[in-house]
Amino acid sequence: MTAAPATAVLDRDGLDALVGVLRAQGRTVVGPTVRDGAVVLAEIASADALPFGWGTEVEAGRYRLVPRTDGAAFAHTTGPQSWKAFLHPERERLWSADRRADGRLSVAAERPQRPSYAFLGVRPCDLRAIAVQDRVLATGRHRDRGYQERRTGAFLIAAECTEPGATCFCVSMGGGPAAEAGYDLALTELVDETGHRFFVRVGSDAGREVLSGVPGRPAGPGTESAARAAVDAARERMGRAMPPVDLRTLMGDSLEADRWDDVAARCLTCGNCTMVCPTCFCTTTEEVTDLTGDHAERWQRWDSCFDLDFSYLHGGPVRASARSRYRQWLTHKLSTWYDQFGSSGCVGCGRCVTWCPVGIDITEEAAALHDELAARLRRQDEREEREP
Ligand code: SF4
Ligand code: SF4
Repeated sequence: MTAAPATAVLDRDGLDALVGVLRAQGRTVVGPTVRDGAVVLAEIASADALPFGWGTEVEAGRYRLVPRTDGAAFAHTTGPQSWKAFLHPERERLWSADRRADGRLSVAAERPQRPSYAFLGVRPCDLRAIAVQDRVLATGRHRDRGYQERRTGAFLIAAECTEPGATCFCVSMGGGPAAEAGYDLALTELVDETGHRFFVRVGSDAGREVLSGVPGRPAGPGTESAARAAVDAARERMGRAMPPVDLRTLMGDSLEADRWDDVAARCLTCGNCTMVCPTCFCTTTEEVTDLTGDHAERWQRWDSCFDLDFSYLHGGPVRASARSRYRQWLTHKLSTWYDQFGSSGCVGCGRCVTWCPVGIDITEEAAALHDELAARLRRQDEREEREP
């Protein structure tokens, strides 16, 4: 097989051939597709399943599909799912136990054959989110074997952002619309007078090998600079931004802020924000039995720090109020996550803003906390000047 160059240009047929090469390798190819009025992630059999001609309009608590006249496939924002739905699924059986005829128990650990995944259309914020979950679940102190097995060998094809949504703020979280690391191939979609095409960059040996089997054409400097210009323009069009302050310090100095009461009065503690967040990883386990009591199973499922049971210790939950649960979520995301995992727990994907049923906006809450802290420090300074 001839080694592919580090860049190439694919047209729509080339994108379809890319899916074909990955499927021929025995991989389950997962990509964005339109279902139930949203762009969701699902197994796709060909590139035809991609959301060609669909974009999205998002706002706090609002998501709508909108048709596009340019036929673009990756001009939509992040949808309700992230790739954790595949790498760290919502429910997973860990073991089952059966009572045998002699009355003894036989316990069987769950060791399923894991799919070999190829993810097509991973946004740069989601590449960073996968890296965050890798630190927690693949290389951290409490590794999750299922995650490790699914993640090992997963082939990642990034789709750089050229159409950021109104709830996106990756740039202010230190990321951006460009794919910088953690991908095998990176696509930048271009629709202009030269036509509809995908500029491809190779990010790994596996990516180079796959690309060598795909019919494409060499990328000229014009295509490459058009791709860079489209991504640079997206950087300037982020819909939102975090306040430009040290968020770790802000959270630490805001533990007793009045703003927590304000947000608690609006928050339903439904946990949607944790379900859609691509970095949230918490799980709980539960046992179920059949009616005879002869068969039992242990399941792992996603849990949320908004659930009362999440902090239940002897006698009751530690975080009984909505104020304390929202504060826990925000301070963990933006501050104490650094202490545990060396990075922020937020990549600025905007999902929690879009999918909060009452439109609570993490950037607005951080800005309000910042304003409250600044006002408190101002009053303190004035007091000290008056009463030295
Ligand atoms: S912030 Fe929104 S999504 Fe999160 S728990 Fe509260 S109401 Fe639900
Ligand atoms: S906290 Fe919100 S914006 Fe940040 S990564 Fe999670 S879902 Fe995305």
